[in-house]
Amino acid sequence: MNDDLTTRLIHHPYKPPEGFEAMAPGVHKASTVFFPNVEALRTYDWKDKSGYTYGLHGTPTTFTLEERLATLEGGTHCMLAPSGLAVMTLVDMALLRTGDEMLVPDNAYGPGKVFAEAELAAWGITHRSYDPMDPADLACKIGPQTRLVWLEAAGSITLEYPDIPALVAQVRQANAARAGGRPIVTALDNTWGAGIAFQPFDLGVDVSIQALTKYPSGGADVLMGSVITRDPELHRQILLTRMRLGIGVGANDAELVLRGLPSMALRYHAQDASTRELAAWMQQQPGVAQVLHPALPDSPGHAAWKRDATAAACLFSAIFDASIAQARVDAFCDSLRLFRLGWSWAGPISLCAPYKLSSIRPHGWSGAGALVRFAIGLESVEDLRADLAQALRALHA
Ligand SMILES: *Cc1c(COP(=O)(O)O)cnc(C)c1O
Repeated sequence: MNDDLTTRLIHHPYKPPEGFEAMAPGVHKASTVFFPNVEALRTYDWKDKSGYTYGLHGTPTTFTLEERLATLEGGTHCMLAPSGLAVMTLVDMALLRTGDEMLVPDNAYGPGKVFAEAELAAWGITHRSYDPMDPADLACKIGPQTRLVWLEAAGSITLEYPDIPALVAQVRQANAARAGGRPIVTALDNTWGAGIAFQPFDLGVDVSIQALTKYPSGGADVLMGSVITRDPELHRQILLTRMRLGIGVGANDAELVLRGLPSMALRYHAQDASTRELAAWMQQQPGVAQVLHPALPDSPGHAAWKRDATAAACLFSAIFDASIAQARVDAFCDSLRLFRLGWSWAGPISLCAPYKLSSIRPHGWSGAGALVRFAIGLESVEDLRADLAQALRALHA
């Protein structure tokens, strides 16, 4: 070939090295993927991963991440999307049609409910919330139009731990009573458990989603989500919707999550230990009415957590005495030095965020004081305790 220099720069002879092995998987980037011939172009099927077809459908980097996440959660099929919220809305869009109804626990991750109120409602898809701590309440909320039931363990912010097998049993009973038609699917937001605290499919759920943004990343520097199933048909249905929506993830982001995975179990357990210690200490402090953490015996759902889980995530919430004004609780948060103000969790730096229970929870918790949610990072527990102690002095000043 005596092509022009420009052509030779573009049609470069680079081939990925044979015989090179290292710990980290390669970062393969592509929109275009070359086919060896027309026959391959016509027959490779991205849906069953029998061949690479186009960057949006996956590269060796994203396929590797999908496989490792499916293994972690005990599933068989996994797909990625650009955030935790994106996988939640993807599952909704894949499984729900006009006229259907979705049930959501009343302590679910807020933006998932906003999607139902603002978008699903406009498409003629209704939703209702149920009390996740009362399987009988779920049973009576299930109607003929119900097609999708979300679960979350522990719930967002108030951290109630539901009896997942009992909730799943209500859905199975309703499916058994239904003569034909589309069955109700159960989908768990497993961001808190992360595949470490319990194995979601052993508890009977059909779909498990995770915000990889939290533990799998661990760095507070990337957004991503995963959808995992053991059901090839369910996987295919959600995958087709993902393809039609044009959703995929970048190889550099996938690399960041792949880099976080080897240390994930160590981080999970280290943060768990620090969180339990600080939650128990916080419970003893004057001005604190209640601390919510599933491992604390007085926390809602403690018995189900003890039975079904072997670990707990890095979150606890403190409810202050109702007599303490929000402004003083805000001053407490502002006084913290190591704890930073911010959303998300499971990163290296501890975070806190104040919430108004009256505006995030329609029922229960009436009369409760201000709530602060803490996400414990990887700092020394002694330093974090000292920081909380000095900020509590500001609360009472
Ligand atoms: C953070 C979070 C999400 C959303 O994840 P993003 O990647 O931030 O969109 C969903 N569910 C739970 C329980 C979360 O904590």
